[in-house]
Amino acid sequence: MNAYLTSVIDNVKKKYANQPEFVQTVEEVLTSVEPVINAHPEYEKLDLLNRMVEPERQFTFRVCWMDDQGNYHTNTGYRFQFNGALGPYKGGLRFHPSVYPGIIKFLGFEQVFKNSLTGLPIGGGKGGSDFDPRGKSDAEIMRFCQSFMNALYRYIGPDIDVPAGDIGVGGREIGYLFGQYRRLKGSFENGVLTGKGETYGGSLIRPEATGFGAVYYLTEVLNHENDPIAGKTIAISGFGNVSWAVCRKATELGAKVVTLSGPDGYIYDPDGVNTQEKFDYMVEMRASGRDKVQDYADKFGCQFFPGEKPWGVKADVMMPCATQNDVTLPWAEKMVANGLKYYIEVANMPTTNEALFYLMKQPGMIVAPSKAVNAGGVAVSALEMSQNSERLHWTAEEVDQQLKHIMHNIYQMSVDAAAEYGLGYNLVAGANIAGFKKVATAMVEQGVF
Ligand code: GLU
Repeated sequence: MNAYLTSVIDNVKKKYANQPEFVQTVEEVLTSVEPVINAHPEYEKLDLLNRMVEPERQFTFRVCWMDDQGNYHTNTGYRFQFNGALGPYKGGLRFHPSVYPGIIKFLGFEQVFKNSLTGLPIGGGKGGSDFDPRGKSDAEIMRFCQSFMNALYRYIGPDIDVPAGDIGVGGREIGYLFGQYRRLKGSFENGVLTGKGETYGGSLIRPEATGFGAVYYLTEVLNHENDPIAGKTIAISGFGNVSWAVCRKATELGAKVVTLSGPDGYIYDPDGVNTQEKFDYMVEMRASGRDKVQDYADKFGCQFFPGEKPWGVKADVMMPCATQNDVTLPWAEKMVANGLKYYIEVANMPTTNEALFYLMKQPGMIVAPSKAVNAGGVAVSALEMSQNSERLHWTAEEVDQQLKHIMHNIYQMSVDAAAEYGLGYNLVAGANIAGFKKVATAMVEQGVF
């Protein structure tokens, strides 16, 4: 391997041994872009790679909040502004007890290249807290969000850093965060957050964008194989916002989602998650804060498999939509044994590197990487920023058309980038290379800092 590349990866492994998720994404991205590094020996002199793996700024802050009994609790808040070479830092906030700097850094690093791939002017950042929203009342969520914003507001702004949602942060939380920002600043700067409600600057289609975009990407892959989407069965994990939109778009295009999963296990619905009642119930399950997918099986009378993952079922397409490292090597082996052809990542880094490299090696298997597949979410966030700065509100059709177009471009850029470097039809390497090249060029042109 390229000696400079190896030294950077070794450096990250040593320095961040206590942040395995970050090490994992750095290894995956940087090994993919080796042909680009080989073609640009000047990057070593500029120490470009060591600069890329070091966030530009990292903020950590205390968030103290009061529960409904009047007791106080203290959590840690984070906002890491990873790379601003292409535009204001952009990326979600994750509220989940597993959050620590290694999670924020892996998400932030991925976000830089994902955002670059969208072709829109956004840098990469990520934030969140180890706060656990499960079982919290609405008033507790509001007080937490207000306290979080009391610290965060100093670091963000429509031209500085524009947070959005991620796991545990949806429209409700963005509303409370925005309300507090507006109160603190005394001005209506709605371009400071995306994923807002429609009444105060939110974009139509933003709630659907990640899931719809993922299915549009899947359609591009299937078109390449001359294989129709109609009639396909799809197994997915998760039952949140992204899964909900995947179910809706897949149904609309004649495919059938047969599994959903949660921390408690997975459900198998042979009829498909494909009616308005089922879509609405997913929203209800999420809003309940129970974080249990068993509720779906109880309601619709299908099978529930406690403590299990859906990756052993037979389906034409697998789309992990839940969280990182959901698919490990034994699951990947099971998928191959079941003759799977389409493995489409949706959640951020849902596959361990071991499982990912194994799947990519299988002849006839098509692997699509999350940073391309799920980029529709942040892309529509960037469209929301455009609408806010122009004081406009586009129709759902306008936004959806742009989303489709962006997903097509992301797919095509990835295909072209892999082909340019002699890697064949490799969507994973292609996405990494295309995303990386733009960031690298912008950083070189902006000088060393
Ligand atoms: N959290 C989402 C992601 O992983 C969306 C970020 C955004 O819209 O800024 O890309």
